[in-house]
Amino acid sequence: MKQFLILFLLTCSAYGQSEYPQDYFRNPLDISLVLAGTFAELRSTHFHGGLDIKTQQKEGLKVYTAAEGYVSRIKVSHFGYGKALYITHPNGYTTVYGHLKKFSKRLEDYIKECQYEKESYEVEMFPGVEEILVEPNEVIAYSGNTGSSGGPHLHFEIRDNQERPMNPLLFGLEVKDSKAPYVTAIFAYPKDENATINGKNERTELRLIPRKTGDYMVEEIKAHGAIGFGVTSNDKQDLAPNKNGVSNIQSFFNGNKSLEVDFKRFSFDETKHIKRYVDYEYYKSKKSKIQKLFIEKNNPLSLFKNPYDNGYVMIKDSTSSVYKIRIRDYHDNETWVTIPIKGKLETIKKDSIDNITTKSLVYSNKPTTLTSGFVTVNFYENTLYDDTYINFKVSSDTLFLGEDRIPMQKNFYINYDLSNYKSEHQEKLFIARFYGNYWKPYYVTSSRKGNVLTAKTKALGTFALATDLTPPTIKPINFQDKKWISKYRYLKVKIEDDLSGISKYRATVNGKWILMEYDYKTNTLTHDFNDNIVKDTKNELKIIVTDNVGNSSTFEATFFRK
Ligand SMILES: [Zn+2]
Repeated sequence: MKQFLILFLLTCSAYGQSEYPQDYFRNPLDISLVLAGTFAELRSTHFHGGLDIKTQQKEGLKVYTAAEGYVSRIKVSHFGYGKALYITHPNGYTTVYGHLKKFSKRLEDYIKECQYEKESYEVEMFPGVEEILVEPNEVIAYSGNTGSSGGPHLHFEIRDNQERPMNPLLFGLEVKDSKAPYVTAIFAYPKDENATINGKNERTELRLIPRKTGDYMVEEIKAHGAIGFGVTSNDKQDLAPNKNGVSNIQSFFNGNKSLEVDFKRFSFDETKHIKRYVDYEYYKSKKSKIQKLFIEKNNPLSLFKNPYDNGYVMIKDSTSSVYKIRIRDYHDNETWVTIPIKGKLETIKKDSIDNITTKSLVYSNKPTTLTSGFVTVNFYENTLYDDTYINFKVSSDTLFLGEDRIPMQKNFYINYDLSNYKSEHQEKLFIARFYGNYWKPYYVTSSRKGNVLTAKTKALGTFALATDLTPPTIKPINFQDKKWISKYRYLKVKIEDDLSGISKYRATVNGKWILMEYDYKTNTLTHDFNDNIVKDTKNELKIIVTDNVGNSSTFEATFFRK
């Protein structure tokens, strides 16, 4: 009987996976899959869209096509995925390869033609269907660390035919993982002002008791009313110490399913709502992400499956209940948390209402404008998740606008009307953000229309006007003026800007535009002489770099090659 049961279970899971082709996609590297990041793991502003595959701390590993297909998109950008390649396959899926060091020769030639035509390092191309066909096991690129990548790795995605990223492990790629997820903290939350947890009406951390089995007990809590729970949890695979994300969380109340969070697939439209899913206030203050196992209003995430009462449980007086959480990784290694709950009606002392005299109400479902002096802040409809009182005060040119503890769905706008603002350097003003007690200005993306300077941001905080009068610096790294550099493969310069930051750069040799790759992490611009643009013996190099308020510097040098 037992054997039969095992067989039956195996058949079930094989059937469950068969909706995704199993032997279609190969590991895009020729080393075994070791992950620095799993699918949908929690990042600060999004769920991770793919796998981060470790590349042995090296760059330059061969990247193979996961399957045959055609190149449907190429994107080269300073940030994000850096150099990225998209391949669409005959079965409708698209694979994505990010943070590449470079592309294969034929792709490199194809892209450089576009870069030279547009005179821009950053390009995005959508080659036609079947314009660039790729074969199975073709080397299409080399792994790297370009864009917003914190170390060498390959970012690999599989997207369905609606551009939704899916867990690539659903397609049979193999990762060694025999370890179950682990839990670092459990919290209980009151749904409204009538609920209590251990006599209080606030988020309460519960005492977690690890068991030898790897599961956890929680010290019995006393509660009353509608409450929800939150968990901080990670998973480690066998071959690396990286703390990765889990793949499924379920909760049960007295044996009945309460909520399931399933990280199989999501759409890019919803990924920003991670700020609603995790406890944003806790994340911003403690740097740890609590996953809330209940659904608050304005939370459209499709990761929730079959919620009962939005994941909240109702605790009545003089009852005994059990709430359980089951956390699984992709390999179905699982960890259970058991929370015994005693229903107990307790009256709580209500704190005197918050002093909200300096706070302004910002609505979630309609626009709100806050004005004081020459500063106006615009929140459009659906910027916040809840109607919220936000501290709003303008003193001289400093705007105190709450703290970055409240999640935003989209940008809000800060406007300074400079019509009557006296400054010797009107045109070099920018809106800066200030952190903590350090009076160091950080540039906030802004634009100017007439006398109005407008910054857009998704984070509350303290802002003020700052002036940037210092143009960027440009220094040669591997060559000197008036020297021969015949044997050099690359031309490298360092560009830096201390306040508003670099906005653009342009390099020419003998008046002709040359491609220079900008790496913001090392502040370097690099030209590859193999582009074959520099052909003369005597060459006049000119580089112009401009910062975000329009200060610019020009660097000129002569070099010789034969
Ligand atoms: Zn990644």
